[in-house]
Amino acid sequence: MSVTVRFAPSPTGQIHIGNARTALFNWLFAKKAGGCFILRFDDTDAERSRQAFAEQIVSDLKWLGIAPDMVAYQSERFERYARAVDALKEKGLLYPCYDTPEELERRRRIRLSRRLPPVYGREALKQSKEEKAALEAEGRKPHWRFLLPNHDGDPLAPRRTEVQWDDVVRGPQSVDLASMSDPVLIRGDGTYLYTLPSVVDDIEMGVTHVIRGDDHVTNTGAQIALFEALSAEAPEFGHHNLLTTTTGEGLSKRTGSLSIAGLREDGIEPMAVSSLAVLIGTSEAVSACHDMEELAGHFDPVSSSRSAAKFDPTELRILNRSLVHAMSFSEVAPRLEALGITGPKIEAFWYAVRGNLETVYEARFWWDIVTEGPGEVDLPEEDRQFIQVALNLLPPEPWDRDTWRNWTSQVKADTGRKGKALFKPLRIALTGREAGPDLADLLPLMDREGILARQA
Ligand code: GLU
Repeated sequence: MSVTVRFAPSPTGQIHIGNARTALFNWLFAKKAGGCFILRFDDTDAERSRQAFAEQIVSDLKWLGIAPDMVAYQSERFERYARAVDALKEKGLLYPCYDTPEELERRRRIRLSRRLPPVYGREALKQSKEEKAALEAEGRKPHWRFLLPNHDGDPLAPRRTEVQWDDVVRGPQSVDLASMSDPVLIRGDGTYLYTLPSVVDDIEMGVTHVIRGDDHVTNTGAQIALFEALSAEAPEFGHHNLLTTTTGEGLSKRTGSLSIAGLREDGIEPMAVSSLAVLIGTSEAVSACHDMEELAGHFDPVSSSRSAAKFDPTELRILNRSLVHAMSFSEVAPRLEALGITGPKIEAFWYAVRGNLETVYEARFWWDIVTEGPGEVDLPEEDRQFIQVALNLLPPEPWDRDTWRNWTSQVKADTGRKGKALFKPLRIALTGREAGPDLADLLPLMDREGILARQA
């Protein structure tokens, strides 16, 4: 059977590096198996879902190098969920509950005080038709729960019922259906929680592997039961560890923490994001892969650790630097042009400066120095005089890679300065900085007239 996976974000905010981890795990899993990747928007919550976020997610995935084979919106598939609801009702596996949040909370506390697991006690099943009708008459709207198969015929006498699966990431897993409440599938206002639409779509779309964060492990127990209740075979499941901030807080789509769009704006390369999103929290060494093929070679879901992985943005910058340092001119040329870096010297410019950049954007900084000079520089008087002497010795153009060496040898011979005393003021005069790209490479990119005019 060919592999089909899905990434199912809710379009309620910008996706972050933790969501990218889920998307990439699915993408690389499918890619390695020659399978199919579905982007399925979990947008049944009309109030919080936004088309603009869905579009942003599509473009974020594209930027990361993920091109879905199919895009689906759950909000367009309600009639399918309604059919599943009918089927479950017919089997007596979906039941209405009129309990208010306050009632539920009160009962939960009582159960806890009696040292019972704080699960729903199926009180709704004890209500008579008349009692329910009276509540309806009061204007109460029911929510609907899925009756978990954790009993031998009497739902009011649940018993330990282990659901087991061999997790693609975590190995053998087991969840006791008696340790959880019957999940609410439909809210009081008639909207669906993600549980049922997700299972219905996984069945209809032929999803073979559900790969998602380990915050869904318990849901999986209930969802496997739901697959069976809908007469379908459950797919395989894989639950990867989640990413947290360095201080251990969860990443949130709503607060926009470390969003993919934000990282892109900061000049972070997609492969830096992808490499870290996939390799962090695994036994693989974190290094910057240059493309998806290389990353796929390092991707092994089984190597993920069980505990959450702390995501440190500094690591992202380190990976970014190594990608930028190795970036070829042909790869970067259109981006330099977009930054206004144009002309016959840009290839030489790129190779001169790339080793000093953390992001491609920073090329603009060195381009301004090369083409316009550093602006006011702060040098002590004796260095100023030295610079005047040195500039008088600047050889005529054309300049090449030897010009710097020849020039500074001449300056050294004439002034007696050497080492730091010779090179540091020259570097500051030409670039305004104490450190930077090799001046043998930078000088030929500069313009003699311009340098002399600025220093006059
Ligand atoms: N929208 C859910 C989430 O992002 C989907 C979970 C799933 O993949 O089944 O957590």
